[in-house]
Amino acid sequence: MDIKYTSTEEIKLFQENLLRRELSYLQDKSPFYRRMFQRDGVDIRKIRTLEDLQYIPFTRKSDLQQFNEDFICVPKEQLTDFVTTSGTMSDPATFAFTNRDLDRLAYNEKVSFECAGTKPGDLIQLMTTMDKRFVAGLAYYLGIRSLGAGIIRVGNGIPELQWDTIIRMKPDTIICVPSFILKLIEYAEENNIPYRNSSIRKAVCIGENLRNQDFSLNILGRHIREKWDIQLISTYASTELGATFCECPYGKGGHHLPELVICELIDDNDRVVPAGETGELVITNLGLEGMPLLRFRTGDLARFHYEPCQCGRKTMRISPLLGRKNQMIKFKGTTLYPPSLFDVLEDIPYIGCYQVVLSSNVLGTDDVHVKVSVKEGSAIIPEDVTKAVKDKFRAKVRVAPEVEIVPDGELKDEVYNDKMRKALKLLDKRNNVPG
Ligand SMILES: [Zn+2]
Repeated sequence: MDIKYTSTEEIKLFQENLLRRELSYLQDKSPFYRRMFQRDGVDIRKIRTLEDLQYIPFTRKSDLQQFNEDFICVPKEQLTDFVTTSGTMSDPATFAFTNRDLDRLAYNEKVSFECAGTKPGDLIQLMTTMDKRFVAGLAYYLGIRSLGAGIIRVGNGIPELQWDTIIRMKPDTIICVPSFILKLIEYAEENNIPYRNSSIRKAVCIGENLRNQDFSLNILGRHIREKWDIQLISTYASTELGATFCECPYGKGGHHLPELVICELIDDNDRVVPAGETGELVITNLGLEGMPLLRFRTGDLARFHYEPCQCGRKTMRISPLLGRKNQMIKFKGTTLYPPSLFDVLEDIPYIGCYQVVLSSNVLGTDDVHVKVSVKEGSAIIPEDVTKAVKDKFRAKVRVAPEVEIVPDGELKDEVYNDKMRKALKLLDKRNNVPG
């Protein structure tokens, strides 16, 4: 029986079995965890259930940075592929995979794309990078290959090459960052490419939310769909997670893969949150050989949903991320997360590009400075853009940051920097951002 179609109870028992195996692997092979178990008196024979996980200390990003090599569980000659975690805030950590881990990643993406409705014989255009020390592009490639579908590795950016490929090879699916779809539409409109009649039916999206907490499309998602009627599938993954949460076509949150990762949600007091509440996602990899993590704090804030999905899967689904814990902004007496600021900016039609810059001030709170550019040829541009943008912020999030107008080309060069994996919509210059 396929575990994802059983029941919440059976999935829990299944995971507990895998957890016990995982713990003895770590005790045996991981210098970091062997030391932790000894130092903190963790007797792994007593950890039998998912609830027992609370007796094990967390692993933090700083542990990964500080003791990076101690996480490696195999001899060096078994390590095949080396990448780094995305260090938006701090130094990235190195991650290494064995051949078996790469097979596991292929499996992860295979079942994720199946969940998204991809079938053997489909053709997928990859609009993310395969290199730059990034694991996702490679994982997609391996997964699609093992699913029996085809893949065209175009890489990120370059709308002209993306459209040339779409017209030439007629893929049905694209994999990309959702805001890049807006760039593709813009390019198509400027160059009279009949994009609505193209071969593309579906976009599998990474890196940015497409939905609100009630799973309706957010502003970014709506903007795409108003222009281009393609199916949008949202996914969430990271190197540390070693698994993907991928939506099924019903679009009600990313489905959990219980054979690959155990998930907990933790509150500010390090306790598991009551069902339905928001917490920081803490993960335990299952079946990773090279560098498995136990109770790793991702910093991502989310909710879990357990009500049955129309697709028949009984697995938990994760909400759109509410933000990153260390990106919480203390501003003018309120707390905010960057996605809510992005939402305001996405909804202003004449804004071409934007960047939110955070810094610390002497009062111990944060300063928020927003750089915006004005789209050339916009139909209606208010006389005082700065004031109009501030008013939008006041209306939507009750507070207004400093707003600066920057020439469109200049800001685009800064935000869509080729050296970065993602658009640099957020620049966090604050001191002492917790890791
Ligand atoms: Zn589903």
